[in-house]
Amino acid sequence: MIKLHDKYFKPFISASDIDKAISKLATQISEDIGDEIPVFVGILNGSFMVVSDFVKKYPRPCEVTFIKLASYEGVKSSEDIQRLIGLTQDLTGRTVVVIEDIIDTGNTLHDIYRIFKNEGVKALKIATLFYKPEAYKKDFKIHYIGIEIPNKFIVGYGLDYDGLGRDIPEVYQITTENQMTNIVLFGPPGAGKGTQADFLKSKYNLVHISTGDVFRYNINNETELGTLAKSYMDKGDLVPDEVTIKMLNAEVDKNKTAEGFIFDGFPRTDAQARALDELMKSKNSSINAMIALEVNDEILVERLLKRGETSGRPDDANESIVRNRITEYYNKTAVLKDYYTSQDKYFGVDGVGSIDEITERLSNVIDDL
Ligand code: AMP
Repeated sequence: MIKLHDKYFKPFISASDIDKAISKLATQISEDIGDEIPVFVGILNGSFMVVSDFVKKYPRPCEVTFIKLASYEGVKSSEDIQRLIGLTQDLTGRTVVVIEDIIDTGNTLHDIYRIFKNEGVKALKIATLFYKPEAYKKDFKIHYIGIEIPNKFIVGYGLDYDGLGRDIPEVYQITTENQMTNIVLFGPPGAGKGTQADFLKSKYNLVHISTGDVFRYNINNETELGTLAKSYMDKGDLVPDEVTIKMLNAEVDKNKTAEGFIFDGFPRTDAQARALDELMKSKNSSINAMIALEVNDEILVERLLKRGETSGRPDDANESIVRNRITEYYNKTAVLKDYYTSQDKYFGVDGVGSIDEITERLSNVIDDL
C-alpha cells in the first residue's frame, strides 16, 4: 500500500499486465493500419508512459507527437471548453491514432473529436490503455481498448493524484480499507520465530522483518548502525529504542507494496509497541495480532547452545549470555503481553513440537483473524 497526499492506494495492475495490454494494442493497430505510416498522438500529461512503451512495440514505421488540452482561462462553466496546445504538424490526409492513458467519462474525447474535425485527417482512431465502462457517458467510438477497469480512482503509469504518482511503473487503485495482515511474532530467543516466520511469509505472502537479522546484517557490513548495535548485542542487551525504532521504520518503508508484515524480534519494549502502532496507523493499517510461541526456559537454553555450535553467533555460544537474553526477554517484554492483551490481540501458541505442528497452530490463529 502507498500513500499519496492524504489518500491510500493498493497495487492493482502489475507492470507485466500493462506490458501485455500494450503489446496487444500495438499488434491490433498495426494489423488494421498496415503499411501506411500513422501519426500517433499522445494526450499529455498522463499518456507519456503509455505512448513511449507503445511506439517501442509498434512493429512498423510511425510518427509520434504529443498535444495537451487546457481549459480556457477565465471560463467558469461546468462544461469547460478545452483548447489545444502543441499541435504544430499538418495532419491533412493522415491516419491519426490518438493514444490515451485512460478514458473515463469521455469528456476529453469529446474535445479531441471537436479539435480534429478541423484538421482534415484521413481517419481518426482512438486507442486507450485503460477504459472505465461504468463511467463512460458519451457515444464517441473508442477503437482500441487495452484493459477495462472498474470505476475507481487509479494512479501510476503516467496517471497522477494531484501531481503525484505518475512515475510509478505499476497501477494502484484507491483504497479505504485496511487489507494488510500484520503479525507480531513473539517469543523468547530460541523459540523458533525465524523458522516459523519463513513458512508463514510464503504461505500468507508477507514480508518478514527480523530486527535481529537486520542488526546482524549491519554488523557484517560494518555500517555505523552495526557498530552501534554490536556493543549491546554482544552482551545480550537490547539496542536502545531510538535506534531500533528508526531502523524498523526504514525497513517497513522499503516494502511499500507489502500485503502485510511479520515482525520478528520487534517490538521488545512498550515504547517500540507504541511506535509500531503509530507507524501502522500512518499506513492506514494496524497490527492484527501478537502471536507468542511459548517454550520452557530449559528447552530454550538447550536449543540456543546447540544453535551456537553452528550459527557462529557470539550471543548463542555462552550459557550465561543465553540466560541473560532469556531473562531480558521476560523482564522487558512482559509489558508487551499486557499491551496486546488489552487490545484483545494476544494469542499464545505452544512452541514445543515438530516444525509442521507449530506452523499449523500458528496458521489456525492467522486464519481466524
Ligand atoms: P534476536 O535475533 O531477535 O534474538 O536479536 C538479537 C539481538 O539484537 C538482541 O539481543 C538485541 O541486542 C538486538 N535486538 C533485536 N531486536 C531488537 C529490538 N526490537 N530492540 C532492541 N534490541 C534488539
